[in-house]
Amino acid sequence: MSEKISGGCLCGAVTYEVENDFNRFYFCHCQQCRKITGSAHASNLFTRPDAIQWTTGATYKKQFNYPERDFTVVFCTECGSGLPFVTTSGKVLIVPAGSLDAEPNIQPNDNIFWAERAAWYDEGTHAHKCDGFPR
Ligand SMILES: [Zn+2]
Ligand SMILES: [Zn+2]
Repeated sequence: MSEKISGGCLCGAVTYEVENDFNRFYFCHCQQCRKITGSAHASNLFTRPDAIQWTTGATYKKQFNYPERDFTVVFCTECGSGLPFVTTSGKVLIVPAGSLDAEPNIQPNDNIFWAERAAWYDEGTHAHKCDGFPR
């Protein structure tokens, strides 16, 4: 039995506990992940569907299924944060790494859909690092 760690959305309405026993960790640069996160890529951890227990706020969860590709997102209806969901195959639980309150047991394995990455991504990883806003 592995350790459990907590997670949830930014506003705090939705919270969960998940076993810290992830087996894959992908940065997904596909066009859908970039749109849905509003960012360079999704950061998704993979584990078993039964590894999660929802603690609070299940009624605030909303699911969107993109019709043109097997692509799902679940988010908080109050604050829009991405939340864990089971894939349509029913075999995998995907946990957005940024929704966790603690560090996962693994490091990122792969950048997937690399060919679809934003043109500004590579340059951005080398941009100046500031602890807060730039001075
Ligand atoms: Zn929320
Ligand atoms: Zn993607």
